[in-house]
Amino acid sequence: MDANVALRKSVIRACQEMNAKGLNQGTSGNISVRVDGGMLITPSGVDYDQMQPDELVFVSNDGKYDHEKVPSSEWRFHLASYRARADANAVVHNHALNSAIISILNKPIPAIHYMIATAGGTDIPVVEYATYGTQELSDYVEAGLRTRKAILLRHHGMIATGATLAKAMWLAVEVETLAKMYLGLLQVTDNPPCLSDAEVHKVLEKIEHYGLREK
Ligand code: 13P
Ligand code: ZN
Repeated sequence: MDANVALRKSVIRACQEMNAKGLNQGTSGNISVRVDGGMLITPSGVDYDQMQPDELVFVSNDGKYDHEKVPSSEWRFHLASYRARADANAVVHNHALNSAIISILNKPIPAIHYMIATAGGTDIPVVEYATYGTQELSDYVEAGLRTRKAILLRHHGMIATGATLAKAMWLAVEVETLAKMYLGLLQVTDNPPCLSDAEVHKVLEKIEHYGLREK
């Protein structure tokens, strides 16, 4: 086992937390962290309660990995996420129910609440559908994350990034909460009231200094 055992264990704990928090179901979703020369990513299709530290896979920045191991089918979009976001050191992907429902409706989450700014813009966009695990999906993700820290994947789920794993998980919770709010609002109106771009921009500046600190 390499020197990254503690890091590998923290990724497994984060996966378990993701399911325990109701952000994901079963073996769906995947998590990676940036490391020197590439990333460590969860294996494909392994129950998070059974997952072992040495099952996480190192994938280099140019997409190479030990073929004795089976990285998440979404390793391409995880690498693409790090290319799109120099500020990201962790990427969380899940099939959180409310986020998935909004992605199916293909409705970007608008500025219904000031916490929209946590995703880095005035809305949370939905990127186009492509089959899971494909280069095509990875390309959509890369374009989407160039302007946001989190996005919805059409007919699929969400991706949240962060400077740390804790921050990426925190953002995933915020995105799912906003999706839940939006879904609630859509029960009563097609056009919920929204904050102006000017108000969201005030929060975008302020929220940089909010909450969790770098470790
Ligand atoms: P993996 O089990 O291969 O990570 O796939 C789960 C998933 O969410 C695919 O989009
Ligand atoms: Zn998925």
